[in-house]
Amino acid sequence: MGVQFLPQGNLPEMTSKSTQTKPATTGSGDERLSRRASLDSAQDLDELREVIGDCRLCKLCSGRTHLVFGVGNPRAELMFVGEGPGRDEDLKGEPFVGRAGQLLTDIITKGMGLRREDVYIANVVKCRPPENRNPEPDEVASCEPFLKKQIDLIRPKVIVGLGKFAVQTLLQSKVPITRLRGNWHTYLGIKLMPTFHPAYLLRNPADKKLVWEDIKKVMKEMQGENA
Ligand code: SF4
Repeated sequence: MGVQFLPQGNLPEMTSKSTQTKPATTGSGDERLSRRASLDSAQDLDELREVIGDCRLCKLCSGRTHLVFGVGNPRAELMFVGEGPGRDEDLKGEPFVGRAGQLLTDIITKGMGLRREDVYIANVVKCRPPENRNPEPDEVASCEPFLKKQIDLIRPKVIVGLGKFAVQTLLQSKVPITRLRGNWHTYLGIKLMPTFHPAYLLRNPADKKLVWEDIKKVMKEMQGENA
């Protein structure tokens, strides 16, 4: 496999004002409509973060410490999309910063030879589901427009979908991740490679070799080669 993706050391400090929680707002119905209407007018990620503000469009707002918007290069060619924030991410306001996040960072740095700040990392939902349960359909319906706008603003060349929930949600598919991974799909007109979630790999390290196969296809695609 050539790389073990073993978590080590501290993650580099990622700075993005886009990850900061904004002051509370009322969350009235009019404001919801206004926020949705403003999505189209957001010209960059900072404006999108302003539009999202102290979002209360779904019930996940009640348990969050931070709204986890996303982090990385706003013009990244490669974007990773996971399911939603966990405890560490909720506390820090940044996606993929716990043990699974360290593993993702190793995949990016040791596996792909990139810096974490070269790519963009986000989730399907921006607020932590209680007890790390899967986001519910109404929560995804409320939040996915924010992800779609993020992708529209970044326009990455390739998206890597991390884990069963994120991939099945993005592709609106019930096909198991074991069959989806390793094959190219399309999301919003952008090539999407599904692979296992880093948290799954922590429990099933033998499957790191499968993720490495997926990542090699992504690297070939990024280099303009047929994968
Ligand atoms: S999960 Fe998304 S839609 Fe729900 S409150 Fe958080 S930002 Fe808003």
